[in-house]
Amino acid sequence: MQIIIFGAPGVGKGTQAKILASKLNIAHISTGDILREAIKKGTDTGMKAKAIVETGGLVPDDIMGGIIKDALKEDRCKNGYILDGFPRTIEQAKILSAILNELKVEKLTLIKLDADDQVIISRLSNRLVCSKCGNIIVKSNYSSNFNCPVCKSVDSYIKRKDDDEEVIRKRLKLYHDTTSPVFNYYKDKAEIVEINGTESIDNITKNILVKMGKG
Ligand code: AMP
Repeated sequence: MQIIIFGAPGVGKGTQAKILASKLNIAHISTGDILREAIKKGTDTGMKAKAIVETGGLVPDDIMGGIIKDALKEDRCKNGYILDGFPRTIEQAKILSAILNELKVEKLTLIKLDADDQVIISRLSNRLVCSKCGNIIVKSNYSSNFNCPVCKSVDSYIKRKDDDEEVIRKRLKLYHDTTSPVFNYYKDKAEIVEINGTESIDNITKNILVKMGKG
């Protein structure tokens, strides 16, 4: 099963992708996570991407194309995958089409999550992320000596550098100007599942699975 989860930054793609990957037994491929890991390790790609990611820009398409090509060849993708954060440009969508052609993938599902910018700005400004496992919590649930409910690390929650309000606005503008048109590219190439992203996490998952015929 090959799925793209699509929508603005902060709409809940990562949260839903993790849940769906586990329920459907497929890999979760988050290009944001791959880049953050590369930055942490100081690899060549990480060093090229660091300033761009931290200021909310888009990493060049050729770098992203290489990352996704490598990721999709990994063993964990054998049973299928959910792409989170890719493609973000028409050029990336074309790169993905070429890879999927080569891999003889015929059926693609695109899940689009929708929410107003105001909801997104408020969510992103109020979230903290576990620096060890990537789990997300609301700032008001945090206190010192907090234990990550997923990986059990202590005091591991941080605010992502790109969750600063000015950077959030830039990321949203890039989404509307550059990424949003990618949706049209898939209208005749994928099964489209459109979902209201403002409901509870559980309801969103349920709605996605029902619309995909897996509920
Ligand atoms: P995300 O975790 O998906 O919000 O991604 C965090 C940041 O990583 C983005 O704001 C971009 O700077 C970079 N990034 C992730 N995926 C891509 C992509 N497909 N193309 C370009 N930049 C990306």
